[in-house]
Formats: sequence, structure tokens, C-alpha cells
Amino acid sequence: MNENGMNTCPLFIDGSWTDAGDVATEPVFNPSDGSVIARTPMCGETEVDSAVRAARAALPDWSATPVVDRARILFRYVHLLEENFEALSRLVTREHGKTLVEARGSVRRGIEVVEFACGAPTLLMGDSLEQIASGIDCDTIRQPVGVCAGITPFNFPAMVPMWMYPIAIVCGNTFVLKPSEKVPLTAIRLVELLHEAGLPSGVMNLVHGGVDVVNALCTHPDIDAVSFVGSSPVARHVYQTATAHGKRVQSAGGAKNYMIILPDADPAFTVDALIGSVYGCAGERCMAGSVAVAVEEAAQRVLPPLREALDEMKVGPTDREPAADMGPVVTRQHLDKVHGYIASGLADGASLYRDGRGVEVPQTPEGFYLGPTIFDDAATSMKIVREEIFGPVLSVIRTDSLDKGIEACNQSGFGNAAVLFTGDGKAARTFRNRVSAGMVGINVGVPAPMAFFPFTGWNGSFYGDLHMQGKEGFAFYTRQKVTMSRWA
Ligand code: NAD
Repeated sequence: MNENGMNTCPLFIDGSWTDAGDVATEPVFNPSDGSVIARTPMCGETEVDSAVRAARAALPDWSATPVVDRARILFRYVHLLEENFEALSRLVTREHGKTLVEARGSVRRGIEVVEFACGAPTLLMGDSLEQIASGIDCDTIRQPVGVCAGITPFNFPAMVPMWMYPIAIVCGNTFVLKPSEKVPLTAIRLVELLHEAGLPSGVMNLVHGGVDVVNALCTHPDIDAVSFVGSSPVARHVYQTATAHGKRVQSAGGAKNYMIILPDADPAFTVDALIGSVYGCAGERCMAGSVAVAVEEAAQRVLPPLREALDEMKVGPTDREPAADMGPVVTRQHLDKVHGYIASGLADGASLYRDGRGVEVPQTPEGFYLGPTIFDDAATSMKIVREEIFGPVLSVIRTDSLDKGIEACNQSGFGNAAVLFTGDGKAARTFRNRVSAGMVGINVGVPAPMAFFPFTGWNGSFYGDLHMQGKEGFAFYTRQKVTMSRWA
């Protein structure tokens, strides 16, 4: 407890929970009612150094542990995660604000990464070929990279950390996790359960904080690899800093995901998909659709039923109101930022087709709420189209051809998701071929790949070479060694 009577989050270093000691703290909110539910210690180099030392000391034994034994711990972890599935989902809702249905979905996606990681004995296999020259055989093996760090954003408190550490650990690496200071509670529980599953001390470590911890992780001489997920400016900074310090880096950034709607798209289906994509998790998703390009009469077909459906949507406190379709955004500060974007859209001349400001939540008026918002007649020159808003705001651009839609999408500078709604296979094929984004949806509003596929952001949405999840995840957390043998 600190002076405000609030629990300050503990660190997990070398198998023990410890207090951060005398460091500044920041509040963790329940966004549904604006209350402070915990405090995050803003640690620095000292705490990072302790965690890295523990991870380095644990590395020789852990990397020498047979892969089946490492995987067996993850099998036990899956079991514990299932037992705690509902409690974990509620924790995600409590500190992030997304609905319980969304929280459950995100915890499920995270568990699927652990299940995938349990396949390590197969996924870590190398290649071999005998007699590549007279009397010479050749083979490859995959060995762990070493001490890895994971730095994560606020919007998926369980899923995004789970993109990283299960694969890193099963490959024989040790790990230091730094979750977002806005949502540290889920990460604490995830680490507790991992320890309960039997992971040896020092293999997984947890530190809390912000910029100072991130910079300490990116520059620490004893860290070998850094995985980052967050906004693009920070993703770029982490990539540049950590690579300059000799580390292997995968760094996923922000997004501005375009959804092109052709006139032949089924309106009812498209409206449902748009609602899920734009307003799911209150728009706080790197895969959220945030720009709709309506081709020819698609706007007339889709916008009126979309607005009608949004008028029926219940915005409310997701921690206590099961009927809430959409929750708050994460903090008051973030809400103010999203309001700033709405003001800028108005100033730039876009028309506010549905205004979510002033949404009333009488049960918990102190929560951080914004109702579903739509701008029509937006243009690529406007800030609301150029920048990531990360809230429940859709900007609609009207155009007269698929080509122009693709062109608009490709100039965004980002490259996470791009979506096309159509009934025309040829248009879908053209779109998939020409769009400059790593994850493409054809009549799928949120084309987020499952654990066994890589999460393939492009352009300003990703810095590095090997993405998270899938076989690329295994490639990132291992180094290949080629051996040529002659026993003449
Ligand atoms: P953020 O960039 O503010 O923070 C991410 C992490 O970086 C946090 O742990 C934070 O403590 C740290 N950080 C923040 N500012 C920093 C700075 N100046 N220097 C060093 N470290 C810093 O992101 P956020 O607001 O927590 O999360 C939302 C962002 O994450 C959105 O841009 C979203 O698109 C992105 N995101 C991307 C993906 C993806 O796969 N591409 C997935 C989820 C979220």
C-alpha cells in the first residue's frame, strides 16, 4: 500500500515478488467509472538491471532444458489459464474497459499462442542433408537468442504480452516483460500463473514503468532481443535504439486501416462488419477499421443503416453492465485526445454524420466515454484520416473507383490491415495484389491472424524483419547454426 492506500504493483524478479521501493507511481484506472484501482511504480535502470541479471543467470540451465520439458510447463500453463479464464477476462475488462465478450476473445487469442508454442519440438526442428560434398553432411539447428525483452501497449493487456513470452521461453530464452503502465494488473496475474505452472526462477521477470524502463531495456548490454508493440513513433524509436545497441528487434507500431466498400457489397453484412471493426474495443485496436472508402453509391447504401444500428448501441460500464455493447476508452487523457481529433475533423470541413460526444452514462458518469462517431466527406489531407485516432471514430471518404480507393489506402504510410467489402472475385483479387498492407480482409472486418500465422504489419506499422506469432515468431526467438561434418 502507498500513501494513497492503493496497491502499488509488485515486480517479479528471479522468482520472487518484490516492491519497487521508493519510486514515483502512476495511477491505474478502472475506465468504466474513473476510479483509481492500483498504482504502477515507474521504475528505472536499477530495477531493469536486477531483472536482466536474473534472466541472464537463468539462461544456461533453461536453454539446456530439454525442449519437451519446456513445452510441458506450457501445457500446464494452458491448463491454469483455462481454469482462470473468466477471472483473467474480468481483469482485462476492469483495467482496460473493453466489454467482457471482447476481453474473453482477447484472452482466448492469447491462450492460442501458448497452445501453438507447445508445438515447439516440431517447430524447432532444423534441416539436414547428407553428402552435400564428398563425405560431408550438413545440418541446421535452432538455438535460443538469449535474454529477450517484451514491451507492450495498453490495448490488449493479456493478448499482446502472450504474443511474445510463450514462444520466447519455449525456444529456451529467458524474458523480461514490461507491460503498459496503464494496464499492469493482467500481466501480474499472467506471470503468477506461469510461475505456478513450474517455470524455474529467473526465466520470466516482470518490471513496471514507462520511458525510462523502455530505454534501459533497449540499451542494456545483456539483452539480446527486444519485442515491442505500441504506437509508431515509439516503435521506430525502440527499433532504432535497440538495433543501434546490437539487439535483434521486432517492433510493431500503430495503424490507419482502410476499408473499401464497393457498391455490390451486401449492406447488412457490411454494416455488421463495420460495427465490429470500427467500434469493437471502443476503436482501441491496431486492426480497427478507421477509414471507410465508399465507392460510388456504396455510401448511400451503408451509412444510413450504420447510423441506425449505432443509435441502438449501448455505451456503458463494461465491468458491471453485461448489456453494454461498447465501453469507455482507457483514460481521461486519451478521451481528451480523441475529442481533439473530432474538433480537428470539424475544423478541416468534414461533416459530422454521427456525433458521439455527450453520450450519457448515468450509472457511472465519471467513466471515460465517447459514443460511436462518424465523419462523412473526409479527405486524405485531413488529420482525422492521416493520423491514428485510436477511438470509436470512423472517417468516410467518397470516391468513384476501386483504383482510387487502393491509391488512398496505399498513401497512408501505415500498413497493418486493409479490407475490401465486395461480391466481386476479380475486384478482390486485384485488391489483394495491389494493396500495401500486411493483413488483408476480403469481407472480413478484422483480419487479425491466429497464433499459427504471423501478425504481418507493413510500412510504418512494423519495424524489423520477423513478425510476432507463427513460424516467424519461432524464427525471431532463435538463431540458426549450420554444421558441416566430415568423418573421413
Ligand atoms: P505507446 O506507444 O504509448 O506505449 C507502448 C509502450 O511503450 C508502453 O509500454 C509505454 O510505456 C512505452 N512508451 C510510451 N511512450 C514511450 C516513449 N516516448 N519512449 C519509450 N517508451 C514509451 O502505445 P499505447 O498507447 O500503449 O498503445 C496503443 C498503440 O499501440 C496504438 O498505436 C496501436 O495501434 C498500437 N498497437 C499496435 C499493435 C500492432 O500489432 N501493430 C497491436 C496493439 C497495439
